[in-house]
Amino acid sequence: MIWWERLTLPGLGGMVEILILSILFYFVIRFFRGTPGAHVLFGLIGLVTSLIVVTRVAELEALNWMLRQLSVYVALALLVIFQPEVRRALAELGRRHFVWDETDAQYVCNQIVRAVEELARQRIGALIAIERDIGTRAVQDTGVKLDARVSAELLATLFTPKAPLHDGGVVLSGARVVAAGCMFPLTQRMDIGHELGTRHRAAIGLSEETDAVCIVVSEGTGIMSFCIRGRMSRNLDGEGLRKLLIGVLMRPRREALWGRLWPFGRRGARGLIPSPAKEPGKGPGG
Ligand code: ATP
Ligand code: MG
Repeated sequence: MIWWERLTLPGLGGMVEILILSILFYFVIRFFRGTPGAHVLFGLIGLVTSLIVVTRVAELEALNWMLRQLSVYVALALLVIFQPEVRRALAELGRRHFVWDETDAQYVCNQIVRAVEELARQRIGALIAIERDIGTRAVQDTGVKLDARVSAELLATLFTPKAPLHDGGVVLSGARVVAAGCMFPLTQRMDIGHELGTRHRAAIGLSEETDAVCIVVSEGTGIMSFCIRGRMSRNLDGEGLRKLLIGVLMRPRREALWGRLWPFGRRGARGLIPSPAKEPGKGPGG
């Protein structure tokens, strides 16, 4: 029997199965695109699938059986490797769809940019997270609860060295500062330059686990960075930061929807920013 004769056309049931699986794969790709381990994930899935197909077609029964047994363990390993992403996926199921008021978004962006520019000028380290759809209660609980309207002066005051709450990160929800002195989860990524210390790793970590955006001012260099979905954009000036912030907080609904449905590459906020690893030689921070 020639190999292609072993391939049978799927019946109606098979077609339905293919359709359901395609939709499933579509959402998996859409969810994992742009995350640090996406290449590993897609590489592994591609490798295992093609090996299974090849061994099946070539009738290498023992190898095929072994691969199918192995795929269970590969799936388990992936669950462990992608723990932050899986956590975020579960969190997204229960998200609240926070809607930014346009004037609020403008106001918050302006205040943050003003504060961050001043902090950078004075070489004062800062870490600010803006909560979006996914709640950050667990992170807020590690710090001190506040409930104050955002202002550049308040943010600058919070990060003033020796101030009681200057250590750790500040969390914003809408136009309110809801907590300060918070511990963010550190990213587990290995491909981050050693010039990025715990402050930057905390920003990347929180943006991996939630859809919050984080802004970092480096104490050593005054470099301003912006972080979303585990990707960090470095060496920003005030205007660059404002554009990124406005783009994220006031992303038009249409684009947001398209960005959510488009599984590959540069759409919506996810494809916007090159990861630090792919951006060599961009100043001292990477
Ligand atoms: P910088 O460029 O400002 O030096 P960095 O990325 O090199 O930043 P560190 O020098 O390690 O980072 O910064 C230490 C400060 O970062 C701490 O004093 C603390 O305020 C903050 N920080 C460290 N870890 C966390 C965390 N998990 N969550 C929030 N803030 C953190
Ligand atoms: Mg440092």
